[in-house]
Amino acid sequence: MKIFSNFDSGSIEVVSIENKDHIELKIPNDNQSEFYQWFHFRLETEAEQSHTISLLDLKGSAYPEGWKGYDVVASYDREEWFRIPAEFDGDTLTFTVIPERSSIYFAYFAPYTYDRHLDLLHMAQSAHHCQLETLGQTLDGNDMSLLTFGEYEEGKKHIWLIARQHPGETMAEWFMEGLIQRLLDEDDVTARALLENAVLYVVPNMNPDGGIRGHLRCNAIGVNLNREWQTPSMERSPEVFLVRERMLETGVDMFLDIHGDEAIPYNFAAGSEGIPSYDERLANLENAFKQALHTVTPEFQDEYGYDKDEPGKANLTVGSNWVGEQFKCLSYTIEMPFKDNNDYPDPLYGWSPERSVKFGHDMLAATLAVVDKV
Ligand SMILES: [Zn+2]
Repeated sequence: MKIFSNFDSGSIEVVSIENKDHIELKIPNDNQSEFYQWFHFRLETEAEQSHTISLLDLKGSAYPEGWKGYDVVASYDREEWFRIPAEFDGDTLTFTVIPERSSIYFAYFAPYTYDRHLDLLHMAQSAHHCQLETLGQTLDGNDMSLLTFGEYEEGKKHIWLIARQHPGETMAEWFMEGLIQRLLDEDDVTARALLENAVLYVVPNMNPDGGIRGHLRCNAIGVNLNREWQTPSMERSPEVFLVRERMLETGVDMFLDIHGDEAIPYNFAAGSEGIPSYDERLANLENAFKQALHTVTPEFQDEYGYDKDEPGKANLTVGSNWVGEQFKCLSYTIEMPFKDNNDYPDPLYGWSPERSVKFGHDMLAATLAVVDKV
């Protein structure tokens, strides 16, 4: 038996692998950080034999609550990612698998590789109404890439969408794939109508370094990008610095920051009700957007989610709060589950790349519903 993780977004540490009924593994920390939760590795072994694998020391992981009710994601072909039931005892996650093939991948969620990210960017730029632009480089020397859909004309709105500030939240880039596919479809009148009213600025991957390194939450030097928006720097957080500079140039009329949540098994949105500038106009916009999204897709709900910030108590280092305050605009963090959507559970796949793609697709219709009001 062998375990491999020396590939894009690979992350695991072997504790013991002598006995196939008792394989023990640990999840390494994000570099220079306390956070750990993302794993991705390959097991090579004898097929058709039972294997029991334990992930140890999860009490200290970033979100221990995330392991309750969580089923492991696995694949033989890196295309279809299915679930394997797991048990969590408060510190160890254990699952048993009888691999049908001699090589099987396991991950926290279906990975979204840097290569696929590059394919997505270049598929997008083949459309005449999409521009690919490199804003600058990350600390590991990867590209910070922006896709701009449509051209600015008087009266058009500036809508920004970003994903994967937290690189292990790969569902966020699957979501972007769905959104981008729809923007590229010239037979899709929803996309066309939206682009008649707005320019869309899309950053499908805010944290390529963290993604490649197999991090859950941080960039190459352990910085949580979603706490950098007030004072980003090229030394600590070039990812935020570069995108924020560009936002200040274009202005922002609406902002969506796409994430995944480890613990809550639903899709939900977190608004900016705690920013100093929050007022009736923003509250009405938030409600109009949430209602539109709920009408477009029952994948979205507004019952389960984060506690709302008290008035004036928002943390302005968080992307959606900083943008909401800076531009006095509709600004939401959108969260998808790592586990499943408990309103429409799927025991075989749980929350999946396919459903993330569809959710991204649907987000455009909800955006169109509010574009004249933002
Ligand atoms: Zn996140």
